[in-house]
Amino acid sequence: MTLQERAARERALERSATVAAACRKCAIGYTRRNNVYGEGDPCARLMVVGEGPGETEDKLGRPFVGRAGQLLDQMLSAIAIPREDAYICNTIKCRATLDEGGRLRNRAPDPQEMANCRPYLDEQIDVIRPDVILALGAPAAKSFLGPAFAITKQRGIWYVGPHGIALMVSFHPAYILRQSGNSMTGVKRLAWTDLKLVRDKLRELAAGRSAVAAVEQPALFEP
Ligand code: SF4
Repeated sequence: MTLQERAARERALERSATVAAACRKCAIGYTRRNNVYGEGDPCARLMVVGEGPGETEDKLGRPFVGRAGQLLDQMLSAIAIPREDAYICNTIKCRATLDEGGRLRNRAPDPQEMANCRPYLDEQIDVIRPDVILALGAPAAKSFLGPAFAITKQRGIWYVGPHGIALMVSFHPAYILRQSGNSMTGVKRLAWTDLKLVRDKLRELAAGRSAVAAVEQPALFEP
C-alpha cells in the first residue's frame, strides 16, 4: 500500500464522514448527540461492523468505546490485532433510542434506518476493501445476510460478503456482557472459536498474497 493510496482512502472516508455528520435521513438524526461514522486504519485487513452506537458512543462520537468496546478491544487483542489496525464501524451511524419517560434507552435499528444508512457502510467497505468483515450481533449479520439469519445457529461459518469479501458473524460484545455464569462462559467460548477462524483466515490470505508476490517478483527484474 503506497502512502498516496492510504492518503486517498483517508480523504474518501473523511468526505463520507462529513456527509454523514450532516445527515438527517432518519428521525434519530435529530436526537443523536454525535454521528458515529467509524474509525480505524483505512487500509485495515479486518473491518468490524456492529449494530449501532450506544449511549457512550453517541456522547463521544466514536464506535465501540463503552464496556462493550473494551471487550471488543480484548477480543481483537486475543487474535493479535490492535484496535487501531482494524476499521470499526456500525450498520447505522446514529444512536437508535426509545424515549421511556424522558429517559432515552438504546434499541435495535429498524429496517428503514438500516436501509437509509447502508450507503455509508457500503462506501466504507468500497474504500477499505478489507480481507475480512466481522459482523457482530444479529442486526449486523442480517444487514449482510438477510432478515432470516439466526445468529445462534448460523454464526461461526464463512459467508461471502460484499465484493466477495470473507464474512464472519459472531456475538456482539454487549450480548456477551449481558450473560452471566455458565452462559457467559459458553458464549465467550463460541466467540473465541469465531475469532480464531478470523485470525486463521487473515493469515491464510496474507500467506496467499506473499506466495503470489514471490512468484511475480522475478518478473519485475526481467531485462
Ligand atoms: S442513521 Fe444514518 S441515514 Fe439515518 S440519519 Fe443517521 S447517518 Fe443518516
